[in-house]
Amino acid sequence: MTYVYRFGGGVSDGGKGDKNLLGGKGANLAEMASIGLPVPPGFTISTAMCTRYYEDGEQFPQELRDEVADGIAHIEAVTEKRFGDAQNPLLVSVRSGARVSMPGMMDTVLNLGLNDETVEGLAKKAGDERFAWDSYRRFIQMYADVVLELDHGAFEEALEIAKEDNGFTLDTEMSAEDWKALVTVYKGLVEEQWGKPFPQDVHDQLWGAVGAVFGSWQSERAKVYRRLNDIPADWGTAVNVQAMVFGNMGDTSATGVAFTRDPSKGDRAYYGEFLINAQGEDVVAGIRTPQYLTKAAREEANAKPASMEEAMPEVYAELAAVFDQLETHYRDMQDIEFTVEQAKLWMLQTRSGKRTAKAALKIAVDMANEGLITREEAIARVDPAALDQLLHPTLDPDAKRDVLTKGLPASPGAASGKVVFDADAAERAAAAGEAVILVRVETSPEDIHGMHAAKGILTARGGMTSHAAVVARGMGRPCVSGAGSLAIDNKAKLLRVGSREVREGDILTLDGSTGEVMVGAVATVQPELAGDFGTLMEWADQVRRLKVRANAETPLDCRTAREFGAEGVGLCRTEHMFFDAARITAVRQMILASEEAGRRAALAKLLPEQRADFTAIFEVMAGLPVTVRLLDPPLHEFLPQQEAEFAEVATAAGVDVDTLKRRATELHEFNPMLGHRGCRLGVTYPEIYEIQARAIFEAALDVAEKSGEAPIPEVMIPLVATRRELELMKTVVDKAAQAVFAERGKTVEYLVGTMIELPRAALKAGEIAEVGEFFSFGTNDLTQTTLGVSRDDAARFLSAYVEKGIYAKDPFVSLDVEGVGELVSLAAERGRATRPGIKLGICGEHGGDPASIAFCEAVRLDYVSASPYRVPIARLAAAQAAL
Ligand code: ADP
Ligand code: MG
Ligand code: MG
Repeated sequence: MTYVYRFGGGVSDGGKGDKNLLGGKGANLAEMASIGLPVPPGFTISTAMCTRYYEDGEQFPQELRDEVADGIAHIEAVTEKRFGDAQNPLLVSVRSGARVSMPGMMDTVLNLGLNDETVEGLAKKAGDERFAWDSYRRFIQMYADVVLELDHGAFEEALEIAKEDNGFTLDTEMSAEDWKALVTVYKGLVEEQWGKPFPQDVHDQLWGAVGAVFGSWQSERAKVYRRLNDIPADWGTAVNVQAMVFGNMGDTSATGVAFTRDPSKGDRAYYGEFLINAQGEDVVAGIRTPQYLTKAAREEANAKPASMEEAMPEVYAELAAVFDQLETHYRDMQDIEFTVEQAKLWMLQTRSGKRTAKAALKIAVDMANEGLITREEAIARVDPAALDQLLHPTLDPDAKRDVLTKGLPASPGAASGKVVFDADAAERAAAAGEAVILVRVETSPEDIHGMHAAKGILTARGGMTSHAAVVARGMGRPCVSGAGSLAIDNKAKLLRVGSREVREGDILTLDGSTGEVMVGAVATVQPELAGDFGTLMEWADQVRRLKVRANAETPLDCRTAREFGAEGVGLCRTEHMFFDAARITAVRQMILASEEAGRRAALAKLLPEQRADFTAIFEVMAGLPVTVRLLDPPLHEFLPQQEAEFAEVATAAGVDVDTLKRRATELHEFNPMLGHRGCRLGVTYPEIYEIQARAIFEAALDVAEKSGEAPIPEVMIPLVATRRELELMKTVVDKAAQAVFAERGKTVEYLVGTMIELPRAALKAGEIAEVGEFFSFGTNDLTQTTLGVSRDDAARFLSAYVEKGIYAKDPFVSLDVEGVGELVSLAAERGRATRPGIKLGICGEHGGDPASIAFCEAVRLDYVSASPYRVPIARLAAAQAAL
């Protein structure tokens, strides 16, 4: 067969290697069947069919109809039931399944194959009227919602009314007759809303559902999710059709979800929830509060209802054995869905479980220590970008907390922000730069964009495996779910807990690690860098070739960077030091001076300040290289912009207002990014670079003397385009060095090099390397100048460019390897040809981006330099790049 792959009953046409074709769910169902686990038989329609379906204008070819008939025959043979048979009906589920699990895809339809006739057969065969009609009402509701896309509110209301009329609170109180009556109401609702009666032909039902799965691939929700997660539109989804097993056949039946290890903390303990006499998504939908899987978890939570371990010890033992078998087989933590039908266990899904960064780290390190995976695999398993979650502050345990309520600790981390009650509001507020907490009764895939925009998520309903919890963990957003005491009034835009009220715009703080919800902002503390984090970093350091430095210009940044493992400073920007209130006046005097003598007088005031800056930095970085970039921005940035400031500034600088204004006008540039900046300042006012160089060498000698360990200054000349520019500037720096060394009678080792941030410099790198002793690729400017795109103005159109696939990612976030990357590799090659072994690094934002780091490894740069908090990310990414 071409499009249909069977599984179960001793057959597996596919396996876990076939994810691209069968989707994750289908591939793993086939795999589980092939290793002898109890999987209800079924078949998968491949993703290739989805692609063809869209190519053919949303038609099913005859070929597929034939193959599906064979697939159904396979299920019939294994189950000894017949699809559509009035006496012995086969029921199936129709499940979507892309390569990666994707919210936004069609929800599963269960119990397909029921109609007015087969429901009677099912009742007779099972000897259970109630079960049969319960299944039928579930089927109609799901089909109406998911396939026919009718208004599900009306169906929920009808159920509520039915329960109210009977004085029931729980679904389990409904009798066979009650369900039967509800089915009649449901069928009426379908006819009313859809204009046609509920489809009675089981084949129509099946094809309707298959079409809906394919259709959902192009749903708005799926598109949004794909965009946020870089999933190509041409992957398509598979469809799984599988024999039903019933968790709603009484008290020896159940359904549940589980993780083989704790997905939140990473502990080696089975973790999950289940519900007796329930079906499908009841567990995650929060219809009843699910029960714990293990006795230990139940006891820890102080919960009453028996755990599965206690309620069904034999099936539980079987399930635990399956957990171990799956973990060993897949060599990873698994996220599992199962159903128990009258004490018989059935496996319905397994996949690598989503986990927090903390859990990812712990699980990787533990599994390597257990010998289940190698250290290299452990390194490869942890997403460097996810480390971000661990590197940021958590709530200060000693800070005062005004605890409003407590929910489940669904996704760890701390977040404070203004309360909003819907996803669109979250997105709007975040776009305006506000931190928000999204508060919902429960989340659904429609809320994804809001969850993404929010700093944290709070829900009133739903367990640890609810939609909110799973998605938040995947995104690395702190989340508290199932805060049951929360009453949310979406209309009035407020929430209540007892007599307390929190309105939209008020500040809440969430602690996703404890489940606490607090009123107001709460102080935070720095993260813990020892333990598993330290272990994995150590392993990464043993593997990586690239050195990792930090972009840092204050002693505090430098200390943070060293704590995070930086091996030097790759970019110390000196202009930030000039903005300091104490010295900006001297800077302005320098700019306002009409000739060299005046500039030198002002610079003389700046020299001790600059020296102190460098001394403080060198002390922290003793023994390590520190790349100091000489003054780079256009001078007008240091002059006042506001009319109101002119008078004050003029007085402070000792000039009249008119002179100040005239100078400001003179310095005005139409395109400052390409204006009088970088080494162009040094060429016109060499004394500025001279004094900066002097400050560097004096500071280096001071620190060497004091600590016995000299830093290695690397003096970097910005925005060089030609060899001659660099040569002139190098002479200035060398002269300053000679002067200082002569005065002090001592020397330090140093280098003079340049940033490569203009295409001309990259092209002429061979010549420039005759003078320059190192290159640092300034990929922020190099991206601007190569693409001809201004970083400051790009936001307006770049997202459209990414959406339309012109650039795969924002080129200022992830290096444009094809274009800018070609210049980098060409410059590296030409530079090395002139000066073998020339030191090469990167200091743009890209130095902390894992994909860009992989590129830096490929062109064999010597180091990457990233902001201090991204140093660990860079260390891990560099190790992964080297594997
Ligand atoms: P999702 O991708 O949203 O998890 P699934 O296709 O896994 O959707 O289906 C959700 C749930 O429906 C499953 O966890 C399981 O409880 C139930 N389900 C799916 N297929 C069957 C089946 N053949 N028999 C019994 N329950 C099923
Ligand atoms: Mg679902
Ligand atoms: Mg599932």
